Amino acid sequence: MEELIPNLRDERVQGAVKNLLAYSLVILIVPLSSMFLLKQYFFEAFLGHTPNDSLTYSAVCAVVLVHVQDPHDEPVHLGFPVSLPPNELFRLRSQFLPLGKVGGKPSWLNPKALPHSNTLICKVCEKPMCFLIQVYASGPNEPEHSFHRSLFVFVCRNPKCSKPNDASNMAVFRCSLPRKNEFYSFDGPMDPDLDGDVPDPRLPPDGPKLCSLCGCSATKKCAKCQNTWYCSRDHQVVDWASHKTCCGVFPDESAEQPEPSNPANPFVFKEFGIELDQEYLNSDMFEELSDDEDDEDEDCVDDETDEDRKRRMDEFKKFAKQNESNANMTKEDLEAATEEQKRDGEFEKFNRLVSLNPEQIIRYKRFGEPLPATCQSPLPDPESVPPCENCSGPRRFEMQLMPHLLSIIEVDAIGQSIDWASVFIYTCSQSCEVPESGYAKEFLAKQDFS
Ligand SMILES: [Zn+2]
Ligand SMILES: [Zn+2]
Ligand SMILES: [Zn+2]
Ligand SMILES: [Zn+2]
Repeated sequence: MEELIPNLRDERVQGAVKNLLAYSLVILIVPLSSMFLLKQYFFEAFLGHTPNDSLTYSAVCAVVLVHVQDPHDEPVHLGFPVSLPPNELFRLRSQFLPLGKVGGKPSWLNPKALPHSNTLICKVCEKPMCFLIQVYASGPNEPEHSFHRSLFVFVCRNPKCSKPNDASNMAVFRCSLPRKNEFYSFDGPMDPDLDGDVPDPRLPPDGPKLCSLCGCSATKKCAKCQNTWYCSRDHQVVDWASHKTCCGVFPDESAEQPEPSNPANPFVFKEFGIELDQEYLNSDMFEELSDDEDDEDEDCVDDETDEDRKRRMDEFKKFAKQNESNANMTKEDLEAATEEQKRDGEFEKFNRLVSLNPEQIIRYKRFGEPLPATCQSPLPDPESVPPCENCSGPRRFEMQLMPHLLSIIEVDAIGQSIDWASVFIYTCSQSCEVPESGYAKEFLAKQDFS
């Protein structure tokens, strides 16, 4: 409970409270004073309306002023993992429209028009990728066909497919549904507290079969029992060791159900829920960050030898791993540790922001700016992001996967493992309508510390 109550003695909390007060004053004073000035000098003195009419007109203008905010000036939202006991994991199923989840099988938004197995194949090893994370990401400015909207990210399980600054071992999909659809009530999703652990009553009987291992669209069934489905021959082989003990055996309805386990099988990642919170920065932080932007070029000068760079990168990695697991790092520790990396301004900025919320696994800001992890490897410039394959419209930044996600899915081993400093996800800026309200492939880029 303690960690839920903000500590008012904490400098960062004080900063956030000050910012909030200043912001509240500004949103009161700006429209009120402009209303007064408009009434007095524009409508009354200049246009010659009566005081009563002038008051009405200026009030209308003030209301408009309050509502015309830059929609892109929203805060960054951070996603944090939420651990659930195995018998509570049902809360993350599709019918409850979870805010997001990591690992397990995907909770498809549209359970019918699933991505084709071909699109879920790793471009490096040509084997099926594994579900990584999904986020429910709808907003008030979405078009009607996109009332519900979710992103789904997949990654290849094979550590050898993870190459520096190359996202060929990953894929991201966007799915949208209108408010009126056959899978969710018009008035909102089911409630796990009220409805409990029940099968989805709206799941279409003619819907696709799901792979018993990975939860993706399945077209192959076990030849022996004709009852268990797989997305690929590969997953059938992987699952056989476990499936052979129950293949063709009809489950005894009266027998007690075995406790669910997490992860449910050795292929999927351990399952977590996600909660979102705004990122609060105090004013000092803003100043430090804008300072950095000025001398960014100096920070990224390229006059060191390859050997120097390799040594520094190793230190980076070590520091990033430590930082990941140490939520209580003090400012002094951080400064001492970053002393060595003085010359990578992007990395410094990245670490300063991450150290404020070391448990963040995603940063989310639709139409926002990505937070580069280092200036040693390239981040795609907005023009080089390929346009939407569905509508040819431009794609814009939406979400970033952070290094702490690696330790959540337990792939942060020393040596070769799935790795990233950050994964940047770019989606169709129009949220265009996809045939059958299916899944549109979007674009992602990966940045590594080496
Ligand atoms: Zn692969
Ligand atoms: Zn599968
Ligand atoms: Zn079987
Ligand atoms: Zn599009």
